[in-house]
Amino acid sequence: MNTDITDCLDGLSGEELFERGRGITYDDLVILPGYIDFDYNDANLETRVTRNIKIKRPFVSSPMDTVTESKMAIYLALQGGIGFIHYNNKIEEQVNEVRKVKRFENGFITDPVALSPRHTIRDVDNIKASHGFSGVPITEDGTLNSRLVGIVTNRDIDFEKDRSKPLSSVMSTDLITVNQGCTLSEANKVLKQSKKGKLPVVDDRFRLVSLVARRDLIKNKDFPESSKDIHKQLLVGAAVSTRNEDRDRADALAKAGVNVLLIDAAQGNSIYQESMLAYLKENYPEVEVVAGNVVTLRQCQNLVEAGADALRVGMGPGSICITQNMMAVGRAQGSAVFQCARYAREKGVPVIADGGISGIGQVAKALSVGASAVMMGYMLAGTAESPGEYFYENGIKVKRYRGMASLEAMEAGGGKRYFMENEAIRVPQGVSGTVVDKGSLVEYIPYLTKGLKQAFQDMGYRDVPSLHEALYSGELRFERRSPASQAEGTVHSLYSYREPKFGIK
Ligand code: IMP
Repeated sequence: MNTDITDCLDGLSGEELFERGRGITYDDLVILPGYIDFDYNDANLETRVTRNIKIKRPFVSSPMDTVTESKMAIYLALQGGIGFIHYNNKIEEQVNEVRKVKRFENGFITDPVALSPRHTIRDVDNIKASHGFSGVPITEDGTLNSRLVGIVTNRDIDFEKDRSKPLSSVMSTDLITVNQGCTLSEANKVLKQSKKGKLPVVDDRFRLVSLVARRDLIKNKDFPESSKDIHKQLLVGAAVSTRNEDRDRADALAKAGVNVLLIDAAQGNSIYQESMLAYLKENYPEVEVVAGNVVTLRQCQNLVEAGADALRVGMGPGSICITQNMMAVGRAQGSAVFQCARYAREKGVPVIADGGISGIGQVAKALSVGASAVMMGYMLAGTAESPGEYFYENGIKVKRYRGMASLEAMEAGGGKRYFMENEAIRVPQGVSGTVVDKGSLVEYIPYLTKGLKQAFQDMGYRDVPSLHEALYSGELRFERRSPASQAEGTVHSLYSYREPKFGIK
């Protein structure tokens, strides 16, 4: 390689690209290729998501009610990212979602649906219809942590005409169980030998603690990159608003073992946010705090000085967002990330680029202009792990995805981010819509990871720190894209073509 880069400098440095006064979006820029001297598999995507938390992959899910509840947070953390549980719910509900993530043990169903002997076959039918399975453990009072007395499977009820019969008359009572504390591989061995579909896990008083399901056997693979705390529990974040009454929420979340709290506000430079930040730092120094949203240096300065452990950057780029139209305020996302990250780096605070990510290339661009991680709504909505049910719209399988300041979400409580709950007149800053089914995160995250590693290889950098070094030294080179170059840089001229499964962005 020609190492004298001054001889052959091409394109623009970050500094030149983001000259003040010009709003540059991800689409406005392209990264010039570097030199490849490593296999893409050797690219290391480890990154800091807050001052003190490192994760293996720079993927973060947004605290939105159509994006992150426990299932999303679990499958993201298993694969090296971290999820932030939304707060468009009661405190107990949010805390329960956090607990589910902290309690999660790979392969063990820690919140199995149980019934009592007094329930009927029809109740099992209903569970089958809503959850898709029919093997149900029967406990004395029909709840978890109550004494296990039987199990009902398809075989017990298939030919039973009278669906109002109590389960006590049909359940199997010759139970094969394992004791709490057994490893997944021990449980799997018993499950295989027993030829049963479900294996209950019980404590020393024969109370139901969890369940292992035969059909999960194949899915129970290892997740060596998972994001875990020192107790080997999955990492999880949760959002709170800037309101004083959300101190109770923060207290309950901290007690439940949340690792990161995120103060959710569309415009984060406020006296309310500073006061919430001060409260959290004083009372829960062990919990990291993400503050935001910010897009200017002045905003960053206030929150960093108030103790933020990470900055969430973005105002207006979200796929469901109409803030810039409605409020006239915001910033092009490339410029926002570059300016904020350059400032925050000097203070040792990572930046999470939030919003406007619609494909692998934009993740790479966000990191290349200084972000340490990306927060995604659109990308993760419509996966099997996002909240909500699939349905068909014009023959296409979709899920709902809505902005937290859409009228629908505000009616359900989401206006707190915009200081707007309980208002008689509501001005939306977001819309509600649908997104196409993307399948499970178990396939999608490995796809994003591989694509991002290949992007790192093309850029010529093995990891996030060296990419950032190159950005700030001026070695990383960019070019602005004219509208024509943007058109040239995507599919054109074809009569027809088929989009790959996960889209072309
Ligand atoms: P996306 O990944 O492009 O879909 O953007 C998601 C981000 O949009 C979230 O993380 C929020 O920062 C932001 N956001 C969420 N709800 C709204 C809204 O109703 N209006 C504006 N921005 C929103």
